Amino acid sequence: MREFELKDEAATVALGQALAKALEPGTVLHLLGDLGAGKTTLSRGLVQGLGHSGAVKSPTYTLVEPYDLPGIKVYHFDLYRLSDPEELEFMGVRDYFGKDCLCLIEWPQKGEGVLPPPDLVVALAYDGAGRKAVLEPLSDQGAQILERLSW
Ligand code: ADP
Ligand code: MG
Repeated sequence: MREFELKDEAATVALGQALAKALEPGTVLHLLGDLGAGKTTLSRGLVQGLGHSGAVKSPTYTLVEPYDLPGIKVYHFDLYRLSDPEELEFMGVRDYFGKDCLCLIEWPQKGEGVLPPPDLVVALAYDGAGRKAVLEPLSDQGAQILERLSW
């Protein structure tokens, strides 16, 4: 487990970029935290760190946004509005958890039972005017990512 102080938005983006360098395909990352805690901001740093040059918005209504990037496919989920985990089955999400994919999941609690277990959990929380992030690995792969993460 590692804890990070994120004093401003740029720090949250930077942590996402550092994660992009440490990750490899075939990773499932869960993002926990209240509304406004910085989940999408961190995702933006991560997706842009992997080579995406456009905007990264939370797919609140479409549930998932795909990014086909060099060497890796990224699926960014926001399940806040998901009413039933079964909806994910209808979307065919099992195909998204392949060896060449990275899955970033905001509000994974809403998809319990359908989503695969995470390799790494990123828990974001308000901390004064800034945020803090606690990263907890739940697999060997997650532990390796955390070891490689340079900050
Ligand atoms: P979430 O996806 O968790 O709902 P967002 O990533 O959309 O949250 O972020 C909400 C707001 O918090 C944004 O306005 C963003 O600029 C701000 N923010 C992100 N990280 C930090 C930080 N470390 N300190 C202060 N504000 C932050
Ligand atoms: Mg969000």
